[in-house]
Parts: sequence; structure tokens; C-alpha cells
Amino acid sequence: MVTIRQKLVSVSQAIKITNGKNNAKKYIVVHETDNTNNGADADAHARLQIDGNSRQASWHWQVDDKEAVQSFEHFWECWGAGTYVGNSQGIQVEICVNSDGDYIKAVENAASLIAKIIKDENIATQNIVQHNYFSGKNCPRNIRAGKVPWSYFIEMVKSAEDIQNPPVETQKYRILTGTYSTLKAAKSAAHVMKTTFGWLVYIEQDGANYRIKTGTFTGINTVKKAVNKIKNDKLAQVTYIKDAEEDV
Ligand SMILES: [Zn+2]
Repeated sequence: MVTIRQKLVSVSQAIKITNGKNNAKKYIVVHETDNTNNGADADAHARLQIDGNSRQASWHWQVDDKEAVQSFEHFWECWGAGTYVGNSQGIQVEICVNSDGDYIKAVENAASLIAKIIKDENIATQNIVQHNYFSGKNCPRNIRAGKVPWSYFIEMVKSAEDIQNPPVETQKYRILTGTYSTLKAAKSAAHVMKTTFGWLVYIEQDGANYRIKTGTFTGINTVKKAVNKIKNDKLAQVTYIKDAEEDV
């Protein structure tokens, strides 16, 4: 069992370093980071992707000896495999090789994570492949060198326990409504959100019209529930869910 969490790259960043959102999700592509620096763990690699990785590269997951961190939803076509098919049909999983981490434990965690993903996404075990399969790169290096033999790794995936803990959501969202033609209408709807729902709300001018922007909600399910409240009370005809990090 491995602890997993999300630390998602913003949509505005993701569109710059992927081929878009139509991943066929047919393969799991296994990598190693090749970064043996102390501290080059899963969180460090997830932060690297959030902060705007300078390399033209992206990957869905990074796993170390403590946890698995997701940077991209699986529908993104990350640039990891080095070929068009590998990128547009693969879910990229990076195993950390930081010197201050326990490599064998990181590999076990990767196997546990992959067991979960292939179940969630209905991917056949024979479609768990090495980065090498697509591009010929010597990756995952230590596995290819036999530190943990590939056949043994696949057996670990097959026998991995199901992950019990759902991902802890950390992503923050806001709701933006469509426009109201009068300030009075916007204020009236905002008043309900504030007093009945207890939300932070802001009224913003948009040309001659007005919109309501909410404070932040943590987790996509939380924000979706909030949108339903707006719809049920007919407080806005149109709503948009916005990544809170994209705010200006
Ligand atoms: Zn690789």
C-alpha cells in the first residue's frame, strides 16, 4: 500500500507541456528520474512540474519511498515517452532514485500505485512497459540493470494490495458565474451565497455587467457540490469552475 496525493499542475501550465487532453490511456510507461541528488524525491519533482519545468517534459506521477504524487490527470498527454504513441497513449510514472531515499521501497510503492492505476483505467498488465519500449532510452535505468528485475517488478504489480486511502485533494478551485446585467441582481445572488451558504464571495465588474467570484474550495468534488447549490437555488444561469492558482 502506498500513500497517494495530488499536487496538480495548473491547466494553463499543462497545455504548454503536453499534447492536450486526449490520452488513450493504453499503457503505463515506467521511468526512473535519474536524479540521485539528496532530496530529489516525489514532492521535489512534483514541485518542479508546478513551478514550470524548464525542460520540454512532463509526467503524470512521481513515486518515492514515502508516497506517490500525481501532477497530471490521466487524460493529459504528457511528454514522457519520447515518441508520439508513447505520449498520446501512456500514463507516465517516474520512480525517484534520490540517494537519501530507499530505492527498493520506491519501486515497491510504484508497483502498488500501478496496480491501482491499471485497475482504475482498465489497462492490461502486458501494457505496463518501460520507457525503453518506446524510445530505446536506457530508462528505467536501475530496473534495466537488474537491481529489481523487470519480471519481478511486474509480479509485484500483480500481487500488490489494493490501495485503501483515496487521494488527499489539495487542489483549490473557485466558481465564477456568468454575467448579471445589473449590480442589484449580482448582489442579490451574492447575498444568498454569503448568508445561506456561508461562502466568501466577490462581485466583479465585467464590461457593463457583473459576475460573482467565490472564495476557494478544496477538491474537485467539493467545488462541484457548491456548483450544484448555485444551480438548485437558480442563483446563476452559467457557472465556471476555475483553478484557483490561475487567478489574476
Ligand atoms: Zn524515462
